[in-house]
Amino acid sequence: MKRSEYAGSLFVVVAPSGAGKTSMVRALLAEQPGIRLSVSCTTRAPRTGEVDGTDYFFVAREDFVRRRDAGEFIEWAEVHGNFYGTSRAWIEERMRDGDDILLEIDWQGATQVKQLFPEAVGVFIAPPSLQALRDRLERRGTDSPEEIDRRVAAAERELQEAGRFEYVIINQEFATALRQLGAIIEASRCRFGPQYARRSDLFEALGLVGNSSN
Ligand code: 5GP
Repeated sequence: MKRSEYAGSLFVVVAPSGAGKTSMVRALLAEQPGIRLSVSCTTRAPRTGEVDGTDYFFVAREDFVRRRDAGEFIEWAEVHGNFYGTSRAWIEERMRDGDDILLEIDWQGATQVKQLFPEAVGVFIAPPSLQALRDRLERRGTDSPEEIDRRVAAAERELQEAGRFEYVIINQEFATALRQLGAIIEASRCRFGPQYARRSDLFEALGLVGNSSN
């Protein structure tokens, strides 16, 4: 086992839209203030109530393309006709400082992140059924009926990507799903590599590093 380059852990939470990911992540952050949520850039228009710099950085398409081409994003994807991307500098800086970062991105972006950060922990959140997902999207009331149809069709395809992730949570009962997400985070923090990076003095004093690590 090796010491990680970063003391912080990177969590990538993926779900089809309507699976309840945003509510779950919000509740998790309220319980565990040690985790920082990466704020993505998007070319999508803000929904009612969304705040620039908090929910997303809302940017013009040309601006996004320029930054993407300059390599400023650790990953990016086109989802439902809009561009979304995660800032490289922001993530690397925070992880070196030992912060745990949570990315709420789509599965394409998650695959790119896994290639760059093999230690990233992937969590896929699935709805208990496609009907439950449709019901949630309708209740949310932020998308047109055509958009909801599009998102449900996309969800059917996205669910097939769950096998790329270490963990799968079925969001049938919110409290249970939230507890499971918290447990995954706690366990991941105790992995050898990030613990060693965070507590190297202790590891060396105790001889936990043995002969097999550097
Ligand atoms: P929404 O428009 O509903 O906020 O998000 C649509 C999809 O884009 C969701 O699956 C969300 O996870 C994904 N998404 C949000 N930010 C990013 C990002 O920075 N990168 C990628 N790849 N996907 C993102």
